Amino acid sequence: MSILDADDGGDLAGALAALQSDEEGELSLHDGSRVAVIGGGPAGSLFSYFLLQMAENVGLEIEINIFEPRHFTHRGAAGCNHCGGVVSESLVQTLAAEGVNLPPKVVQRGIECYALNQDVGTVEIATPLNEKRIAAVYRGNGPRQSEPLEFIGFDRYVQDLAEQKGARIVRKLVSGLQRLGGGIRVLCPDGSGGDFDLAVVATGVNSHFLEGVDGLEIGYSGPETRKAFLCEFPLGRKEIENRLGAALQIFLLDMPGLKFAGLIPKGDLATMCVIGENIDEQLIEAFLEAPEVKRCFPDGSVPPHICHCFPRVNTRSAVKPFADRIVMIGDTGTTRLYKDGIGGAYRTAKAAARTVMFSGISEDDFRQHYWPTCEKIESDNNIGRFLFAVTRQVQKWRFLRRAVLNMTAAEQRRATGPRRMSSVLWDVFTGSAPYKEVLLNTFHPAYVATLTWHIMLSLVIGVFSFGSRGQR
Ligand SMILES: Cc1cc2nc3c(=O)[nH]c(=O)nc-3n(C[C@H](O)[C@H](O)[C@H](O)COP(=O)(O)OP(=O)(O)OC[C@H]3O[C@@H](n4cnc5c(N)ncnc54)[C@H](O)[C@@H]3O)c2cc1C
Repeated sequence: MSILDADDGGDLAGALAALQSDEEGELSLHDGSRVAVIGGGPAGSLFSYFLLQMAENVGLEIEINIFEPRHFTHRGAAGCNHCGGVVSESLVQTLAAEGVNLPPKVVQRGIECYALNQDVGTVEIATPLNEKRIAAVYRGNGPRQSEPLEFIGFDRYVQDLAEQKGARIVRKLVSGLQRLGGGIRVLCPDGSGGDFDLAVVATGVNSHFLEGVDGLEIGYSGPETRKAFLCEFPLGRKEIENRLGAALQIFLLDMPGLKFAGLIPKGDLATMCVIGENIDEQLIEAFLEAPEVKRCFPDGSVPPHICHCFPRVNTRSAVKPFADRIVMIGDTGTTRLYKDGIGGAYRTAKAAARTVMFSGISEDDFRQHYWPTCEKIESDNNIGRFLFAVTRQVQKWRFLRRAVLNMTAAEQRRATGPRRMSSVLWDVFTGSAPYKEVLLNTFHPAYVATLTWHIMLSLVIGVFSFGSRGQR
């Protein structure tokens, strides 16, 4: 399916109008226009791929240069983009509808279920409808000490797609942007770079580049971010197969500041990913010492990891991520709260490419046609914040943890019938559905009634066991 067929059916006229208006002196792309994409992660590469495909469809000849210093073929930090590497179900499907089918050499493992680990027990949640569409991928080429991969990383794969469509990859770091009369100058530390009609900033939030954008005085203020934690455990294929299989381990523990933690099985490694409010060495140490975490590893003890990092994660949208001839996409603009960041990169990349092709490249074009996509993501994130506040209460109170576990376990034991708590947990943990949809599912009378029943049951059990154990 071509991009024009997908959801831009009537926009060929829009593209032609944009080209015509350029002749009248307005800001839009024309034959020979040059576009600089700063950063070749998922947002930058997908933007380039979509824009080149749209240009091909309307017969426009443009040049795209993707500035990206990382070689995603390298093992270790030089090839890594710091991420858990879970590609959500909805994104796998959306990309397939765009004609981008993740090949087996990119998918390290298909995730078949989630195991929810709590102090009150563990329950496995099978994919709704027993589909196996979540993909665990490497963003780079694995840690330095990992086995050489026959696989290729996700970022390399999408960058190759953009290159095959005609994008030029420039293996350079960009140090700054300068506004010219009729364009944008891209500056690299070695004095190279060039002049472009449009600059698309897709550097993510783990780069110093955004600090320099302030100097352009375009009213942009970067996204709010928080520190996260990632590390890789070399468990070996056999151990991963036997112990973790195709299950992603999720931890719902009573630790202040901890929002989400998961252990993701890949080739011969398992990636631990911890996201929260005040992630530091101390919290990570306490987390790795938790019995719920230890019991996921061989002999019930956490082995040494071979690499770790504290990358930043976007937790609130940037302010005004656009100006004449400049647009910020992916993490530098807006993304989904704590989940599906690659999905957020896809959505903002596509919205920006559509705006550039079918409307124009002025501040007003981005405000009218690009910003609504960011606003929609951010307003869904506000619902996500509420859901995480509720999840925090579940983390905090043992009787609630037990009620959630029991309700989920009862649903998973049933061969048929609705699995409402399982679906809510699945969607919150995988990011497969918008937070709004998750919230609406919790209003269902049957969900409310069953949960209330399990909470009451759990309170009764708690009263009987309180004296002996003294737990909350
Ligand atoms: C701990 C953690 C776990 C996560 N887990 C998941 C997950 O499991 N699933 C998921 O969907 N999302 C996850 N995310 C979020 C996801 O990583 C991001 O949302 C996503 O990578 C954003 O893509 P991007 O292209 O905007 O930025 P990035 O992926 O950060 O890519 C930016 C690119 O720009 C390049 N760059 C930076 N500065 C410059 C410069 N000055 N010049 C040229 N190039 C430059 C970088 O080298 C990089 O390749 C996680 C994030 C964190 C922190």
